[in-house]
Amino acid sequence: MKNPTLPEKIIVASSNSHKIAEIGSIFDGVGLISMSEAGFAGEIEENGKTFAENALIKARTVSVALGCAYPVLADDSGLCVDALGGAPGIYSARFSGGGDAANRALLLQKLRGQDDRKAHFSCAVCLCFPDGTYICGEGATYGNILYEERGSGGFGYDSLFLSDDLKKSFGEASPEEKNGVSHRFRALKDLRSKL
Ligand code: IMP
Repeated sequence: MKNPTLPEKIIVASSNSHKIAEIGSIFDGVGLISMSEAGFAGEIEENGKTFAENALIKARTVSVALGCAYPVLADDSGLCVDALGGAPGIYSARFSGGGDAANRALLLQKLRGQDDRKAHFSCAVCLCFPDGTYICGEGATYGNILYEERGSGGFGYDSLFLSDDLKKSFGEASPEEKNGVSHRFRALKDLRSKL
């Protein structure tokens, strides 16, 4: 049965298939359209100072550019490491200037000799409606940074993140296991509860 509180279709301001799949598992029954499918090919300058600011910038940019009838959902997320003062945080994707593997290598290098490995993933999501109003949600998931990679699933820092909830790395977890405890899942649940 259709849920009357959920929009029929949502444009997702991302081209990351992992993220879109996670969003699909929460917004079950909602038609998700990626921003490229919706016709958005522009660059988005993520110059906010927080995850929430960046999520709103992304959602607003795509919503205004497309001027369409559907709400636009954007997320911004990253890894915050206690011993690094919360870094890489909003700079997680650009930490090393290389890709995911280079980011993981740099993280291990920065934590060499460090016993405090506490970290969390943080996520903010924003749903921007065609009339310019918006709703946001936030979520986090806690764990520790491993001394070496474990597992090959997921993306980003997954293979270095030992989840408190799962007692295994996100790289070792199945998509379903990760989705059940992830920062994105929690942020989306928070947002959904406000719809
Ligand atoms: P965003 O696409 O601007 O939100 O950047 C998020 C970056 O944070 C990604 O490129 C990853 O490096 C990292 N990240 C965010 N969420 C996750 C996750 O669930 N697993 C692993 N890395 C993540």
